[in-house]
Amino acid sequence: MSPPRHRFKKRFGQNFLQDRSVVDRIITAADLDSEDRAVEIGPGRGALTESLLDKCAKLLVCEVDSELIQYWQDRNLDGLEVVAGDVLELDWEKLFTEPPYTLVSNLPYNISTPILFKLMEHRRLFRRLVLMFQREVAERLLAEPGNKDYGILTVLCQVWYDISKVTLVRPGAFFPPPRVESMVLVFEPLHQPRVAIGDGDVFRRVVKAAFAQRRKALRNTLCSGGWERPVVEEALASASIDQGRRAETLSLEEFAHLAQALGARV
Ligand code: SAM
Repeated sequence: MSPPRHRFKKRFGQNFLQDRSVVDRIITAADLDSEDRAVEIGPGRGALTESLLDKCAKLLVCEVDSELIQYWQDRNLDGLEVVAGDVLELDWEKLFTEPPYTLVSNLPYNISTPILFKLMEHRRLFRRLVLMFQREVAERLLAEPGNKDYGILTVLCQVWYDISKVTLVRPGAFFPPPRVESMVLVFEPLHQPRVAIGDGDVFRRVVKAAFAQRRKALRNTLCSGGWERPVVEEALASASIDQGRRAETLSLEEFAHLAQALGARV
């Protein structure tokens, strides 16, 4: 069956991949075998879908565009299950009942950050993630301390995953071409967090507060997380972090020490 005659919907971030070499690199990075179960967010017109299905036992595709949902339901392919709806609204624990899955997606750019937060919340469901991002977001995920791209997403994702670059993708690899470059990354979950973060909620709160005003000293920004200044100053001292440092200079380990010190003071 040929791809559906379908109206492009900008609101769903529909830039369809049309470069076979990029498809091949994504499929190779997914590293699927015939027993595996996989999930694809946004199959669209199927640039990746059938190649994924060929490599695994079962593929769940989650699509929000009703024309495309209808197309995939009509295809009725063996091993393919079509899930209709907004992936951010669906109950993943009820949907993904046979973990672990490999997740592959050329993500609609407008939902990449909320998807990452949802993935971290449900990280036990996935054994590997292969995701296409706008280049700027991918660079934030790969950034190191001291770099302007280093931020909340970097710290929260690098604590739980080994993240590496698969390939840079030029706008011409898509139709219609987006205005920006893209990058495919692979995420391999760690068995335990890279550094001893203590209470995960406190760690997240510390990271978010620390970056709330990234140009400011930590002794000021951390107060926005609800801690009193003397508590912040004491925690910074006990974690051996200079009061005047900024969030973007802290290593993951220093964030962990700081979260442990603040966690002990709530
Ligand atoms: N996988 C196809 C490809 O590589 O050509 C399509 C990728 S396109 C960038 C993103 C796809 O995600 C579209 O099919 C779009 O309709 C779908 N989509 C957008 N927002 C979604 C959401 N919230 N939940 C599920 N699918 C979504």
